[in-house]
Amino acid sequence: MDYVYGPGRNHLFVPGPVNIPDQVLRAMNRNNEDYRSPAVPALTKTLLEDVKKIFKTTSGTPFLIPTTGTGAWESALTNTLSPGDRTVSFLIGQFSLLWIDQQQRLNFNVDVVESEWGQGANLDVLASKIAEDTAHTIKAICIVHNETATGVTNNLATVRKILDHYQHPALFLVDGVSSICALDFRMDEWGIDVALTGSQKALSLPTGLGIVCASPKALEATKTAKSVRVFFDWNDYLKFYKLGTYWPYTPSIQLLYGLRAALDLIFEEGLDNIIARHTRLGKATRLAVAAWGLKNCTQKEEWYSDTVTAVVIPSNIDSTEIVRQAWKRYNLSLGLGLNKVAGKVFRIGHLGNLNELQLLGCLAGVEMVLKDVGYPVKLGSGVAAASAYLQNSTPLIPSRI
Ligand code: PLP
Repeated sequence: MDYVYGPGRNHLFVPGPVNIPDQVLRAMNRNNEDYRSPAVPALTKTLLEDVKKIFKTTSGTPFLIPTTGTGAWESALTNTLSPGDRTVSFLIGQFSLLWIDQQQRLNFNVDVVESEWGQGANLDVLASKIAEDTAHTIKAICIVHNETATGVTNNLATVRKILDHYQHPALFLVDGVSSICALDFRMDEWGIDVALTGSQKALSLPTGLGIVCASPKALEATKTAKSVRVFFDWNDYLKFYKLGTYWPYTPSIQLLYGLRAALDLIFEEGLDNIIARHTRLGKATRLAVAAWGLKNCTQKEEWYSDTVTAVVIPSNIDSTEIVRQAWKRYNLSLGLGLNKVAGKVFRIGHLGNLNELQLLGCLAGVEMVLKDVGYPVKLGSGVAAASAYLQNSTPLIPSRI
């Protein structure tokens, strides 16, 4: 029973948690099992092998941790670093801010590079810090690939180029929570040492799995990293990997079967097709925003995010009201503006298991609610701009060709 019933389907357009496909819901609808029976290790083995494909790594070691993105951050940091270690971290929005806060609370010496919200990580500042750091005091670069609060995607290939140019050995730690499995992400090619995501984002699962992948260099770093870690200790996992039983503690059986089904769907569609679909959905959303006469919070095209769009609204309107009315009148869930941009932006999440017509439904709802709150929008203008683009760019569904 819904606590607050609404007819029809909720249009879930927050940038995570996202819609769960029916196939995944069905796969999870099962009893608990003994995780020490032969069945669960056999399943886990396939998951660990296959999950590497979404990171585009062959050399990485994956960990499926019962946690969220926040726990995945903590596992990346505590397994590879020691208290007092210098990290360079970019403050560009709410999630990078929270990661920085975690780094500070774990007693790292955080060198914060701050930019205006709506801008990407300042990689010129990174280049000068790396150039100056001939003593290699910087132990890790921590960067959020896609800042979900502002809809900003950072250029990870450039970070790698900077480190390589100065032959700097800093670890490269990447939050891919709202990017992995939706945006172009290449762990091996970009020399990423730890990459992580959460199950409720582009994988389109319930919340509850932190999926972390460590490079051989990151695993080597665990041998000298002195941060206290217990629940998140990768070595406990590695011990059980060797034994072939895989789990240091009780996994959620339902989430494991859900992950199996989610990966099967991902491979059926094809990772590159999924990335292309997100490119289309992102572009269509931005065309609608422009047609409404509104601004994207993201300040430059090079940072546009294909998983979330933060829409800036005129100062006489409170964006919180847009989100509230969308849910109350149209059963449409939009993302709130967070922290510095609270009241100023609302967010449209366009990631995960989602198609073009679903997005058009959302855009129609946004138009109606904009009118409701007094913004002079021409009904249909955004939908027209988005659908004109989608009609020409949407390919046949691969399995139906
Ligand atoms: N990193 C990013 C980029 C996020 O968008 C989020 C959540 O939205 C997090 C980290 C935190 O993840 P969680 O809420 O699963 O702990």
